[in-house]
Amino acid sequence: MTRHVLTILGSTGSIGVSTLDVVARHPDKFDIFALAGHRQVEKLAAQCLRFRPKFAVVADGGCAADLAGRLKAAGCATEVLHGEQALIDVASAAEVSGVMCAIVGAAGLPSALAAARHGKTIYLANKETLVVSGALFMETAQANGATVLPVDSEHNAVFQVLPRDYSGRLDAHGIESIILTASGGPFLNTDLAAFDAITPAQAVKHPNWSMGQKISVDSASMMNKGLELIEAHWLFNCPPDKLEVVIHPQSVVHSMVRYRDGSVLAQMGNPDMRTPIAYCLGLPERIESGVGALDFGSLGALTFQAPDFDRFPCLKLAYDAMHAGGSAPCVLNAANEIAVAAFLAGQIKFTDIAKVVAHCLAANQAGGADSIDGLLALDAETRTRAQAFAAGLA
Ligand code: NAD
Ligand code: MG
Repeated sequence: MTRHVLTILGSTGSIGVSTLDVVARHPDKFDIFALAGHRQVEKLAAQCLRFRPKFAVVADGGCAADLAGRLKAAGCATEVLHGEQALIDVASAAEVSGVMCAIVGAAGLPSALAAARHGKTIYLANKETLVVSGALFMETAQANGATVLPVDSEHNAVFQVLPRDYSGRLDAHGIESIILTASGGPFLNTDLAAFDAITPAQAVKHPNWSMGQKISVDSASMMNKGLELIEAHWLFNCPPDKLEVVIHPQSVVHSMVRYRDGSVLAQMGNPDMRTPIAYCLGLPERIESGVGALDFGSLGALTFQAPDFDRFPCLKLAYDAMHAGGSAPCVLNAANEIAVAAFLAGQIKFTDIAKVVAHCLAANQAGGADSIDGLLALDAETRTRAQAFAAGLA
């Protein structure tokens, strides 16, 4: 395997930490060019001391002074940068071969897009980039020779069971549909009457996966699966009506591809993001990830059921936004980011998340989806609208 020089955006988050765990197992294969950790200065300082990147990127001048002070005291030569342009610079630098995009939310879009413009290998965890700007992002990647590898476990599973030479046309390979599995989250069997009283602490406690706060709430509302439908649509050029969702509470089958001859191919494994991360980082080799072997003796039953839109209205909203296309997914994402933040801050109820998103989708005028600037303006406008609506619910 050729040596990879990596920038890890969001290195201090759940995906970032798992990525560095895999990288640390293969000192012969990877060099770290830059780590970006936003406001988590202490954690980022420890990562810099261990991995000795050329650059570290934080949110602002205050964080930069704090980090630089810590690194200097420890004799670490990593140079500290700050701000959005610095994220773009470390994603675009000529020395870099691959960029792990693991910032949470639409905040990760400009740097992911920069990696696409510069023809990098993009390890894409940040699904919001594809939800907001899927068409433009994939076009940009293609036009500049960038490779987009899916880190999200479902999409990574699909990627693993698609034909190696998958051309982006399902019918050319005898594929009937792509089936995304969903755990159903912590409230799959909760009495619907109790949904109004769901607390942030309950919502972020996922039964199978350990993840960042925002995606944990998205998993509880199943908005995560909705975002993933749109992500799959763009990654695999899959028409909306060829995408299925099935609830599989054990999170062992990570997703499937249904073929014309009746075959369904699945990828399985323990629910640990180091597997899809190692798959992406190692390609075309299979490399050690640190994830334990799947133990069939202790697995018990694997079960599957259809999703229920009454229980998970966010999933329905995402389906509708995917079918509507254009600017609707951008609005869906921005409204959801604001609603989830308001829920986590104790300002609105869990059941209000879908109300905020529905309100913003209903208010959306078509248009604005044909340029990144248009999408970013719509994103900002939607955040303001969502904030005002959420304040009215509080
Ligand atoms: P997280 O909250 O644990 O980490 C987010 C990272 O982004 C942190 O390093 C944080 O410092 C940084 N960050 C936050 N706001 C930022 C901003 N405005 N600008 C720059 N950096 C910022 O999140 P996570 O769970 O690691 O998820 C990251 C992304 O990966 C999300 O898009 C999520 O949907 C996706 N993803 C996560 C998992 C998982 O298991 N955690 C699985 C699949 C996909
Ligand atoms: Mg996923």
